Amino acid sequence: MAVKILLVEDSETQLKFLRDGLVQNGFEVETAMNGAEAYKKLFEYIPDIVVSDILMPIIDGYQLCRMIKNVDEVKKIPVILLTVLDKKIDSFWGKKAGAQLFLSKSIDINELVRNINATVRRYPVTDEYKSAIADKATTENSAQTRLNTILNDLLLKSVFANEFRNLSDFLNYERILVEKLFSLVSSFVEYSVAGIFFASPDDFAENILYIDTLGRNLSKNVLSDIQYDFFRKMEEFKSFNNSKFEVVRILLGKEIDYQFTDLKSKIIIPMVFDKKLIGGICFYTRQDIDYASFRYFDIMISELLAIFKMKYQYTEKEFMSVLDGLTGLYNRRQFEISLEQEYNRTKRHPSDFSLAILDIDFFKKVNDTYGHQYGDYVLKTVADLMKSAFRKTDLLYRYGGEEMVMMMPETNIEGAIIPVQRLRRMVEDYNFEYNGVKAKVTVSIGLTTNYQEFNSQAEMLKSADEALYKAKESGRNRVILYEHQ
Ligand code: GH3
Ligand code: MG
Ligand code: MG
Repeated sequence: MAVKILLVEDSETQLKFLRDGLVQNGFEVETAMNGAEAYKKLFEYIPDIVVSDILMPIIDGYQLCRMIKNVDEVKKIPVILLTVLDKKIDSFWGKKAGAQLFLSKSIDINELVRNINATVRRYPVTDEYKSAIADKATTENSAQTRLNTILNDLLLKSVFANEFRNLSDFLNYERILVEKLFSLVSSFVEYSVAGIFFASPDDFAENILYIDTLGRNLSKNVLSDIQYDFFRKMEEFKSFNNSKFEVVRILLGKEIDYQFTDLKSKIIIPMVFDKKLIGGICFYTRQDIDYASFRYFDIMISELLAIFKMKYQYTEKEFMSVLDGLTGLYNRRQFEISLEQEYNRTKRHPSDFSLAILDIDFFKKVNDTYGHQYGDYVLKTVADLMKSAFRKTDLLYRYGGEEMVMMMPETNIEGAIIPVQRLRRMVEDYNFEYNGVKAKVTVSIGLTTNYQEFNSQAEMLKSADEALYKAKESGRNRVILYEHQ
């Protein structure tokens, strides 16, 4: 029986030339003029070998080859790719695509014939294999549907990869990262509630489960049931110390009343890397899970894992360092260490010690109006102003996203208010300008000192926070002192 060749070539002259040459040499030849057509014919014609040009419109030779090699039913059919120039890159891609052989288009027909015969002998396609393809072709979806599925998958994979990769810009803004993750994930998976959690290398860090309720307001009970359910699952990973956790609702909206038990299906996925739990994600739905909507689940999870890894490594780097990368101020961990030390020291050896917390006013608006880069510039500038407003012996920290703290040892409240007010004024007067864009920014500050009434450094910190809250509430751009008993 004649060897059946599926010949793929977009140039009509070349196609005719090659087909005639092959037919004269006793082959049975079917032709296609692009990769998409070839893929369809593969199932109808069922050749012993595919001989394809590389450069073609729509789907090129590499893509066609990759598609063939990705599908179990047809992957054993050998593929010869024809290249114009003998470029290294062609053979690289060809190997990646799984082609059996590479031939230069400039070879004569006899050499092509020899190579086809050798390849067919080396990679024979058995009759059983062929009839399985034929069965598949008639019983399953049409080749077109299959092709569309593959194209969609390929497209989706690259879109996915791109979208997820873009998220790596937000590793240092956890909230934004989370919001973007939810909006991306919700376009692929149907859920009623989803949760995201990033584990920290710091055992004392809060374990926060961010929850997306798709704009609905869930009752506290449901949220805490989800939180419990989720972290119980996470606890199964022994490295995980579930001491503290918190539920944060990203999206709020209309109240909706359903119970935890109404959430019929759930998927909880721990993200594990290097035997460590680096985070987790969960989906709860009120209907039975529709697996069709989970078609791209695997791809999504592997992209998510990559993001979780990057996020973990970023946090780890921050955790190991003393300074905050953006502002050059000491980081939060240093603050916690120093606050405890300083507080305890002044308990043992009574002396003054004041503490201020600063929060930038309407900072979200700065980000939303001018972009995150601008926001970063503002943060950095505020930090620089802090450095110039305070004495060298004062300690300055980046406490959270746009919150800074100032620790002033050996300073009572009357002394502390001077640099704090100075800083507030400096920020107010400063003409922010970045890439030609000007803006005005103000800050609110809460100030406290180590009053006798406090029993711990946590109480002292809380009092500064309360004062800050009052500063915000009473109109912002001001310093408020904690009113002690
Ligand atoms: P308020 O006056 O009440 O403080 O308003 P606000 O908008 O500043 O309040 P909120 O605390 O809700 O917003 C803080 C925003 O800060 C949220 C987040 O988008 C942004 N943010 C946090 N960390 C960073 C960061 O490192 N860089 C940038 N560019 N933005 C950040
Ligand atoms: Mg804030
Ligand atoms: Mg703020």
